[in-house]
Amino acid sequence: MPMVTAPVTYEVAEDENFNTIVANGETQALPELGHSVHVEITGLKPARPYWYRFIAGRERSATGRARTMPHPGSGLDRVRFVAAGCQNYENGYYAAYRGIAGEELDFLWHYGDYIYEGQNKAGIRQHVGEEPYSLDDYRLRYAQYKMDADLQAAHAAHSWWVTWDDHETDNNWAGDRGQDGTPSAIFNLRRQAAAQAYYENMPLRATSFPHGPSIQIYRQAKYGDLLDAHFLDTRQYRMDQPCGDGFKPACAAALTRDRSILGAVEEKWLFEGLAKSPSRWKLIANQVMIMPLDRRTGNESAPIWNMDSWAGYSANRTRLLNHIQKNKVKNVIVTTGDEHQNYAAELRGPKGDALGIEFVATSISTGGNGSDMRPGNDRIMANNPHLKFTNDQRGYILCEARREAWTTELKVLDRVDTPEGALSVRRKFTVPAGESKLS
Ligand code: FE
Ligand code: CA
Repeated sequence: MPMVTAPVTYEVAEDENFNTIVANGETQALPELGHSVHVEITGLKPARPYWYRFIAGRERSATGRARTMPHPGSGLDRVRFVAAGCQNYENGYYAAYRGIAGEELDFLWHYGDYIYEGQNKAGIRQHVGEEPYSLDDYRLRYAQYKMDADLQAAHAAHSWWVTWDDHETDNNWAGDRGQDGTPSAIFNLRRQAAAQAYYENMPLRATSFPHGPSIQIYRQAKYGDLLDAHFLDTRQYRMDQPCGDGFKPACAAALTRDRSILGAVEEKWLFEGLAKSPSRWKLIANQVMIMPLDRRTGNESAPIWNMDSWAGYSANRTRLLNHIQKNKVKNVIVTTGDEHQNYAAELRGPKGDALGIEFVATSISTGGNGSDMRPGNDRIMANNPHLKFTNDQRGYILCEARREAWTTELKVLDRVDTPEGALSVRRKFTVPAGESKLS
């Protein structure tokens, strides 16, 4: 783009052919924002699809479809959504997104790792450029990902809720700490570049406009009387990973009572949202695994934990589960990303009773083809009785909330090293309302 302001017209219609345009106007694509535009439309009808497009000069965009939310509290029979994320471009193709584009959904939730900042010269596909540090570097990385036709199709088909994890900025970053020990004031400059590029490239409202390195990511969404979703941000406000990060036995620092992955403000917001929710199902849309998962695959003497997950912040998990129990919050479902594997488990309280269910969604492409059973997963299953299922293929999870039950389908690809991977349902779980039980 030439470094000038470009006027952009937008149109929103009730039909695919734009016969009935219900909103239109002009906005400015500014060089300061990478020529992105963010338009907020009001006055639309609830719970129905709309079609939208943009016109700039002689160029007209493809048509996108977005579904509006139902009225809060209105009676709903069904809410369907996909949880997807972890889409390392170098690790494979996005056939999963082609599948997602064909689903009938209320929304898609992206759990993060939309881009990866690394560079692997032996990838299935190659990142352009080295590891990003500047705003232009991050913009280039998003531009490359967004060239993918399958990813474009998923954006054009659905309304997205987006949250980020680590790789939009730097592997395993935590608040103002990167992974390389960079001084915080300097790492914050990188965060600022990453946050701006994220804002420019994602469907985010003005409420998420970045301020320095900070950007409002966590949000709540109410789908009628059926589903209250809490979309978390477990990166910006967390304490540093304990015990030097990585997969290891817990050291004393992992077990202190002040451990926090949410920060005080987000924790209070989540706890209030859960306790006050009048909806049937309470969704915690979360980035890194909450369940305590002993990662031993051999004869290690002490349990091994992933310090970047809630296992490095176990006091925060205890506070969450105690809160759910004390307030008798029923029908809590957690969906999680980050692991690049499918897991389904009960979230158990201190007395061993199940207080919720956690579905960990695999990855769109990160990790490559994979296989049904990762070596060592049989040991992990045996060491973790709350864990009911694992699978190491790529794909996404399709969730459906109904009054009487919740279902989650794990959809997996046979391969991601070609664009033609085939999707199938690997497993379908049902959680009956009123019981935190997987069947
Ligand atoms: Fe990832
Ligand atoms: Ca991650």
